[in-house]
Amino acid sequence: MNEKGCSFLDKGIDFELDKVCDCCITHNDGRGMPLLFDNYHGELINWEELFNKKAERIAAQKQNTIYDCENCYHLLNYQFTNERKIKDFHFSHCRACNAACIYCSDAQSGGIVNYDVFPVIKDLIDKGYYEPGGEATLQGGEPTLMQNFDELVYLLTENGTNIRVHTSGIKFSPSVENALKQNKAAVVISLDCGSKDTYRKIKQIDAFETVCENISKYVSASKSKSHNVLLKYIIIPGVNDNLKEIDNFFDLIKKLNITDIALDIEVQYAREYNNKDVSPHIFLLVDYFNKLVKKNNINILIYSFLSYVLQNRNIKPSGFIKYKPLFNWYLNTKINSQKNLKYYR
Ligand code: SF4
Ligand code: SF4
Repeated sequence: MNEKGCSFLDKGIDFELDKVCDCCITHNDGRGMPLLFDNYHGELINWEELFNKKAERIAAQKQNTIYDCENCYHLLNYQFTNERKIKDFHFSHCRACNAACIYCSDAQSGGIVNYDVFPVIKDLIDKGYYEPGGEATLQGGEPTLMQNFDELVYLLTENGTNIRVHTSGIKFSPSVENALKQNKAAVVISLDCGSKDTYRKIKQIDAFETVCENISKYVSASKSKSHNVLLKYIIIPGVNDNLKEIDNFFDLIKKLNITDIALDIEVQYAREYNNKDVSPHIFLLVDYFNKLVKKNNINILIYSFLSYVLQNRNIKPSGFIKYKPLFNWYLNTKINSQKNLKYYR
């Protein structure tokens, strides 16, 4: 008997642009996202049919790891409940966006209009198939542009689900503010810079001040102060991979009372070099981040693509890091700009 399982197989649902899956996790080899319904565009769901599909899949998983879940890091020792309830949600169906990040293929697709998932979740709750206490991840595109976004967030938080929102921060959401006040939300904003000019270069829109104002409002609302508002910096080789921009970023987070940040590397770049053999200066930038994190007493999360890259470090830490001008000079000698990518824009 196979003891490995995953709560998403048991009680998870993921809404994609044109399908419904157990989860939104994809793997490099194309596995992941076990399919529940294909060709889906927001219709009410036959929940009994959905749970029958889940039950069949769980029975198969109990025998042997199913194809989609092989090698998934979410697969752990897990006791399936078969309770025919949904507790964890991913909303990944909105591809519309109010930014146009140079590294984003979603934005390039022109902001496809998404379907309205609010009646579907309302129906789930009304019919007794909902279980409180889970988490809903709202991502995109830009999730605040989803039809009935605020109504959906109010509905979920009032019924006992915590939310995690990956947002550009350009559009302020009162429902997210309300959830932060109740300590029921985590907000992740990928700023990728600390200055207006670099923001415009990356996001292709003049919204730096607006985003900073919205971050401030979310931080003020956050019950655990800034811990529930996390700012992300994606290293984009050739664009924001310099000490000046990182200094600007740290100045800004201090100003905004942010205590938690996340660091990652641009995904196409990481993939292009198979998560290894990237330009050596990337590792020195991570050292610089870690130095500032320590100095400023900030919590840092290293996201997955960067952690794969870090496993293949090809340059030693430098003692020059104590002397900024020398470190800057050394860093610049290690940049291999031939390895910069052409991004979408
Ligand atoms: S094991 Fe991985 S791929 Fe399978 S349902 Fe869980 S998260 Fe998704
Ligand atoms: S904010 Fe997100 S979805 Fe929008 S363009 Fe940037 S990366 Fe893409």
